[in-house]
Amino acid sequence: MRLRHIPGAEEAIASSPYVIQEPESQKGCWDQIFGNSHPVEIEVGMGKGRFIMELALSHPDINYIGIERYSSVLLKALQKRSRLELSNIVFLCIDARDMADIFAPGEVSRIYLNFSDPWPKDRHAKRRLTSPAFLSVYEKILASEGQIEFKTDNQDLFDYSLESIPASGWEIQEYTRDLHKSLMVLGNVMTEYEAKFSALGKPICKLIACPPNRAGQD
Ligand code: SAM
Repeated sequence: MRLRHIPGAEEAIASSPYVIQEPESQKGCWDQIFGNSHPVEIEVGMGKGRFIMELALSHPDINYIGIERYSSVLLKALQKRSRLELSNIVFLCIDARDMADIFAPGEVSRIYLNFSDPWPKDRHAKRRLTSPAFLSVYEKILASEGQIEFKTDNQDLFDYSLESIPASGWEIQEYTRDLHKSLMVLGNVMTEYEAKFSALGKPICKLIACPPNRAGQD
């Protein structure tokens, strides 16, 4: 995602009714934000938000939280959001590594990681959203039946994830290296990056994984 500082972005986000300010204070009480106890699903690194807003429109019985760390990117999502009638989606302008301070254990049902930055250099591996450090954050907040869903066009990041996820004790339940030609495409919702890369003929990889068995710990 090309980043350009947009003057006024921080101020627009700080005053937006769609962005939860000081989200740490909502830990364990996200039901109150939505006014119901529907499952909560998160997209980490939602970019301009096409994917998560489309999900929110088609699943009114699920609550969605879009996470994006850059205000200039989130601003674009807010502009789109303001044109939609939705009561089941909010946004957070945070770094996803802080999610365990914001969500209580078991408070999240599903986490989507779509076209995450690949961070190809070894010394940046910890920044990859499927690195052991991030997996341990997801594990802390996911419900016992919770899952992550990860899509990317980047073969190296996908190969890395096919190793890092089981190495952290997670189970990869399903995966494909060509989503649009696989049965996993049923119900697929395209992201901005997915539309761009698949139009260029790039195959899209997808996996679904669940955290280590926590029987006896809940
Ligand atoms: N998910 C969108 C899509 O598929 O079209 C956007 C993909 S874009 C390549 C990745 C986005 O993730 C960027 O907007 C980036 O700022 C955000 N991001 C990356 N790491 C993040 C983190 N640790 N916390 C929050 N957002 C992050």
